[in-house]
Amino acid sequence: MSSGCSVLIVNYWSREALAQCLRTIPTEEGPVEVIIVNNSPFERVDDLAGETRAPVTVMNNPVNVGFALAVNQAARRASYPFLLLLNPDTRLRPGCLEQLLKLLADIPAAAAAGPLTHYPDGRLQPTRGKFPGILSSAAHLFQLKRLMPKDEWVIARGGRLLGGLFAQYRPLEQRSRVDYVSGACLCVRRQAFDRAGGMDGRFFLFYEEIDLCRRLAEAGGETWFVGDATAEHEVGHSSAVARQRTAFERQRSMRLYLRRHGTWWQRTAVFFMQLLAAELRLARCFCADDRQGIAAELRLLRWLSGRSGAIPESTVQPDSLPVIISACLLGRNCTYRGDSNFREWTNQPDAPIVWIPVCPEIEGGLSTPRPPAEIQQGDGEAVLDGRAQVRMITGEDVTAAYIAGAETAVCRALRYNCRLAILKARSPSCSPGMIYDGTHSGALRPGTGVAAAALRAVGLRVVSDEQAGQDGIAGLLRSHQQREAATAGLRGRDR
Ligand code: SF4
Repeated sequence: MSSGCSVLIVNYWSREALAQCLRTIPTEEGPVEVIIVNNSPFERVDDLAGETRAPVTVMNNPVNVGFALAVNQAARRASYPFLLLLNPDTRLRPGCLEQLLKLLADIPAAAAAGPLTHYPDGRLQPTRGKFPGILSSAAHLFQLKRLMPKDEWVIARGGRLLGGLFAQYRPLEQRSRVDYVSGACLCVRRQAFDRAGGMDGRFFLFYEEIDLCRRLAEAGGETWFVGDATAEHEVGHSSAVARQRTAFERQRSMRLYLRRHGTWWQRTAVFFMQLLAAELRLARCFCADDRQGIAAELRLLRWLSGRSGAIPESTVQPDSLPVIISACLLGRNCTYRGDSNFREWTNQPDAPIVWIPVCPEIEGGLSTPRPPAEIQQGDGEAVLDGRAQVRMITGEDVTAAYIAGAETAVCRALRYNCRLAILKARSPSCSPGMIYDGTHSGALRPGTGVAAAALRAVGLRVVSDEQAGQDGIAGLLRSHQQREAATAGLRGRDR
């Protein structure tokens, strides 16, 4: 392990498991560092650094930005030529990392390698397989795998159809080329990771490692399964915390993956299968009077039908300057009154600005028009820390929607590599300086909105539309670029 390995761990409500995971990271055979991105703001893990002898860096996110973006955040801090993506509920068995690194050293074309993985009770875990298509999507959507026997006879004789579906279980040589290996424990050559553009941040959870292995393969990088490297993985330790969100993100990622890698007919077939599967689950929830389930399935159906209210993704050229902006400032009718706060942005500099609009309240699930809301007994930072709430004038607690909106804003900022945000003054979501005092009397006090606080916590410069109006976009960008230049070297730009 002479050239060194950076172990990248994304934590989400897995403190106990993370402590055990850290104890299994080997430090004797070569340089190793650990970078933990903590996606659970209410769970501190900084004190776990003593569980391993390797140097540990902890990056705390103000909201959950998902697995892929967090891996990219960690990778930017990594100093070694090999990256080990490791789930906090995974435990490396002796020799695991050494064998993975040995394979990458022995086979120059290998870009990624993953171990043989078991559940804690010793059963084999399906952590490798073929790139997904219609059959595997159908098997997942309608839970067909549960109905099929997984004994060796079926797996060996099931022909191409079953063979593809059960590729995860088929016995392999000690070292075998595969399409993908699970991101629960995946060692990647840093150079290949960077060349592929890192993880695609649009995947929040699921399919991101399959997408990565596919893009590595398209660039000529092979993925290998290493049978004599072994690990133990609990599965779903983090996702169990938010089951409905997890189920939604799986569907979203499936569609995103096929949009990127599938043919038009695969996309169409899977879309109709997703609709059918959601309707069947909705009917089951109605029969069981499961209100949470009904709400989750209706949300999924709304998203599938394209009526989610989410703002479409922007296109950003490599040499452009992406700036996060409150969507209402660009003329979107998303305010609580149902109108916009449109401002003419006439003072455009030569720099090719690309506006990345976000309306945290709409994207957090609120509708327009809606009753006005204010932060009670605190500001956006206090809301993110769980010390304050956001309530509508009707008294309804909408804190969860405001946090979900802040999460969308931060994910979008990280995905587009934004360094600057121009947000609407006085909004309980967007305001960077003054907010209403929570009495719904029109009185103001110093404090940030929830999304503004979250964007600041991940390093963005956040200014109000009023300041941007005074300084002009050109002046703002000039001072912003001067600050960027001053901090260059302390903080590297994203890919
Ligand atoms: S949340 Fe922000 S973007 Fe949305 S309406 Fe309010 S100020 Fe505008």
